[in-house]
Amino acid sequence: MKGPIIEIERGLARIRLLRRLFLFILFSYLPILVLIMGMIERTGSWFPILLPICLFFLGMYVQHKLQRIHCPRCHDFFFVQKVTKENYTPYSSFSFPPQKRCQKCGLVLYK
Ligand SMILES: [Zn+2]
Repeated sequence: MKGPIIEIERGLARIRLLRRLFLFILFSYLPILVLIMGMIERTGSWFPILLPICLFFLGMYVQHKLQRIHCPRCHDFFFVQKVTKENYTPYSSFSFPPQKRCQKCGLVLYK
């Protein structure tokens, strides 16, 4: 019984890490862009623009990974919800980031 619990905890820790990374990129993107534009204005060099460009593509990659991540307990998609007439809620159109539980078995991300 201890083995599956450790597997589930590891899977949840990975999902939490990717989710935090994605949220960090999402909310820090504009402040970083403003700082970089200020730096470009001061130095005249456009080289620093590579940082927000790389951050944008890293964010897209992490988001893609999160959408395809599987639940460690039921092995179905964690964030992607199969919407039916019975399980529809007004939040059904947002799969991420508001959802904090598995969309199939209800495994909670934060206890
Ligand atoms: Zn699940």
